[in-house]
Amino acid sequence: MIVYQDERLVIFQSDLYQTNTTLFDGGDFILLVDPNWTANEVYYIKSFVKQQHAGKPVYLLFTHSDYDHIIGYRAFPGAKVIASERFAGRVDKDRILREIYTFDQQHYISRDYPIEYPEVDILIQQDGMQVTIKSETFSFYHAPGHTDDGLFTIIESAGIFIAGDYLSDLEFPFIYHDESAYLETLAKVDLILQKHPIRILVPGHGRYLKDQNAEIIKRKQRDQSYIEDLIKSVRTSEIFPLENYLGQFLFADGLRDQHSKNEEHIRKSIG
Ligand SMILES: [Zn+2]
Repeated sequence: MIVYQDERLVIFQSDLYQTNTTLFDGGDFILLVDPNWTANEVYYIKSFVKQQHAGKPVYLLFTHSDYDHIIGYRAFPGAKVIASERFAGRVDKDRILREIYTFDQQHYISRDYPIEYPEVDILIQQDGMQVTIKSETFSFYHAPGHTDDGLFTIIESAGIFIAGDYLSDLEFPFIYHDESAYLETLAKVDLILQKHPIRILVPGHGRYLKDQNAEIIKRKQRDQSYIEDLIKSVRTSEIFPLENYLGQFLFADGLRDQHSKNEEHIRKSIG
């Protein structure tokens, strides 16, 4: 389903976890971010690209390596792939592919393309690295914490900020990697908003924000507080105000399990 469309940007949203696929029209190329989820949804995106952008080179950007974000990779053969160096260097690619396999098995999903881990053509190495494709400049920032290989991407001319699995209205932080790294990544959001004229935020899941940078800051602060409060409660055995946080989310009961995992993660890392 298309949830946003203007001259240069289309946001498709899956029924599953409201996962977003971003399509940016660079004029003489297109950039597609994390095409997902089900076979029909990926097919719809592919058909849209074929109809609207026939013949243009396709660049695929992967915000991070979680299986739901790389699931559509081979539906776009010949595309050039952009991702972080860590994304390319993972040693647990088989685990991620198994998650896709298991998902498709459990949901009886047949795909008309093979499932593979993305081969990266354009590696993002330094924080703040810029890449120019045709006449368009992209700025990239490392965004670890959720996973260790995340990226923030800014499409300069259009003021588009693609955040991967950060800054969602539907989720508090899912800490798979590291809580301190997560806080550092959130702190980068201020720098990004100061340095780049951001007009639209596209998170990995949930509602985009157009001309609402104050709302971006609110999501960021909410996530900072969540992590800081959780660290504090693990350290001091103070009760964590879980219901206060859950009350801010539409699918609160769906988040309880992840909260327990976050708590467990921090408990282990604090030791
Ligand atoms: Zn993720």
